[in-house]
Amino acid sequence: MVVIAFFISHWLLCVFFQSFFQHRYAAHRMYTMGPRTERAVHLLTYLVQGSSYLSPRAYAVLHREHHAFSDTEKDPHSPHFFKDVARMMLHTKKRYDDYCAGRGQPEARFLGGYPEWPLVDDTLRTSWWATLGWVALYTGFYVAFATSPWQFLLLPIHFLMGPVHGAIVNWCGHKYGYRNFNSTDKSRNTLPVEVLCMGELFQNNHHKYGSSPNFAARRFEVDPTWQVMRVLAKLGVIRIATPQRAVWPEPRETAREAGTAQAA
Ligand SMILES: [Zn+2]
Ligand SMILES: [Zn+2]
Repeated sequence: MVVIAFFISHWLLCVFFQSFFQHRYAAHRMYTMGPRTERAVHLLTYLVQGSSYLSPRAYAVLHREHHAFSDTEKDPHSPHFFKDVARMMLHTKKRYDDYCAGRGQPEARFLGGYPEWPLVDDTLRTSWWATLGWVALYTGFYVAFATSPWQFLLLPIHFLMGPVHGAIVNWCGHKYGYRNFNSTDKSRNTLPVEVLCMGELFQNNHHKYGSSPNFAARRFEVDPTWQVMRVLAKLGVIRIATPQRAVWPEPRETAREAGTAQAA
């Protein structure tokens, strides 16, 4: 029971910080915060994501490319150009590693505006000692609290949590689910109440309104990360920088757009 609670907590916290920090802050600048708060959130993201922490800079560049070239050959992770999810993720990993190592120069328009902290993003992220430390910590927890051998099958997911979430969002979010909006890409909303990836699976809504910090678009849709952001904004921890469209579009527009999408 303790192990399952740990797995669910680690899953949700990892994907929350990926959505909140690497995606909505580093890549899109949907909110601002003071320099000390930014450092605290940056460090917290590293501590939560541990062995699978993603460089905000490389994440932001890759993600901006994804928006600019969505579902074309230049998209770093379109499921429509790969036979399976493993091949897609290996392709994405290669480009991510290249950008982390300074190999290959992204277009200038994709650069800048993301937080950078060499101690965390380079030294700790690439340190084998730090990675082994995280792996030992997760394993130690399982050794102490696992009540059945099958639970150890969950352990590798902790080691690779970030890429696991990336695989689910990048593959399912452009392949399975419904569309609210007609668009040239193949983005979809996989789940209407999106707790599994904390709102990241509203890909169709997000591609339509890329700067809206609320990924939910219709009355029945729930974006948990946005709900947390609303509380943080009320408390004065962050300031929402881009206009959000809490419930949009108007029902008639939805029907018209959905009809156009179907006709297309
Ligand atoms: Zn997408
Ligand atoms: Zn985005």
